[in-house]
Amino acid sequence: MEKIIMTTPIVEMDGDEMTRILWQQIKDELILPFVELNSLYYDLGLLNRNATNDQVTVDSALATKKYGVAVKCATITPNKQRMEEYPELKEMWKSPNGTIRSILGGTVFRAPIVIDAVKPAVKSWKLPITVARHAYGDVYKAVELKSNEPGECVLTFRGESGAEQTVSVQKVDGGAIWQGMHNTDESIRAFARACFNYAVDQKQDLWFSSKDTISKVYDGRFKEIFEEEFEAYRSKFEELGITYFYTLIDDAVARVIRSEGGFIWACKNYDGDVMSDMISTAFGSLAMMTSVLVTPDGKFEYEAAHGTVTRHYYKYLKGEKCGTNPVATIFAWSGGLKKRGELDGNKALENFGEKLGEATLNVIARGIMTPDIANMAEPGTPVKRVFTDEFLAAIREELTALLSA
Ligand code: NAP
Ligand code: MG
Repeated sequence: MEKIIMTTPIVEMDGDEMTRILWQQIKDELILPFVELNSLYYDLGLLNRNATNDQVTVDSALATKKYGVAVKCATITPNKQRMEEYPELKEMWKSPNGTIRSILGGTVFRAPIVIDAVKPAVKSWKLPITVARHAYGDVYKAVELKSNEPGECVLTFRGESGAEQTVSVQKVDGGAIWQGMHNTDESIRAFARACFNYAVDQKQDLWFSSKDTISKVYDGRFKEIFEEEFEAYRSKFEELGITYFYTLIDDAVARVIRSEGGFIWACKNYDGDVMSDMISTAFGSLAMMTSVLVTPDGKFEYEAAHGTVTRHYYKYLKGEKCGTNPVATIFAWSGGLKKRGELDGNKALENFGEKLGEATLNVIARGIMTPDIANMAEPGTPVKRVFTDEFLAAIREELTALLSA
């Protein structure tokens, strides 16, 4: 079989722990035998982020801006415990996803990969629910402060015109904690448009939820901007017979559980972080979820929604065989290469990306699964529980067959 040639490079962001191991295995088994991989490699592993003072993360985001498509491996966001685990760390580096998203902006769309063997925990769900997560600002770009004496905290905006707006946050009698967060009209507008476009593309209803009864100005602005932006899409929605509706986040949660699925749920940054984990777990597993960041100017970053699977990595280091599920990471490559092919008019590459996903699902449909999904399979479905390497070998065989058919 001749290898597929790539005309434009894809931005490759390597990561940490077990997913870094999977990353290499996926490349070796499923990509490099078929594709003359043209990638710009950025090592976002924690130690290299530390060595480059996190410049590598910024560079990888800038490369994505330039070339348009990236694939990202899961990465460690250091916390106190990681600072002890890696004493060489110069700083508690920020979340790479946060850094990348603040450079690129955009919206993260997360959808479960639905398979026959696993029925959703919520019995009424028949179709996947896509969570559209705003990827800029709020608590992810907040500043925080801890104070230790009685006093007052004020919030001041200083306009370039010289005008100032000030509001008292609170007067306190003792130690207190503070947080200042923001979002911009421009980013919220881009989020709204990305969601409306995606709904039109998928021909699915769009829901948007926030807490504007409590946060009248902040969340209220989100609601207002969505309403304004919707005007440009209203006739398209009517034509397609799809709807946009806004509801409070607590009402949305209740409705989602009672729904049949098959819609897009737009969420603010933090809500989207939490709700996408809830949705994916209820649909089966975090390892069975696709995640893509779409920017307002049409750049794409594909990733797995789960983390670096630390517990499995420590088993791996002890020489134990692991059954870590590589599906979400395979789908990141599949989505990225497909999009690269689509943008370049490279049919062979587009087809390869498509077939990579198809081969993975075919193997699962035959009952070959990693333990996480095997454990949840409906009674009566055929199940052959395998380790990651056997699973990848089965996909490689299936992929070879699909590509030469
Ligand atoms: P995690 O890596 O997602 O793993 C949590 C647990 O979920 C695992 O221990 C495992 O359960 C199960 N799991 C997740 N992915 C799996 C897979 N592919 N196959 C099988 N089981 C899977 O979350 P975490 O342990 O909370 O975080 C570990 C590190 O990941 C942290 O340092 C965090 O900063 C980072 N993180 C990165 C990203 C990202 O880069 N996108 C996202 C989230 C977290 P069992 O142990 O029961 O098998
Ligand atoms: Mg999360």
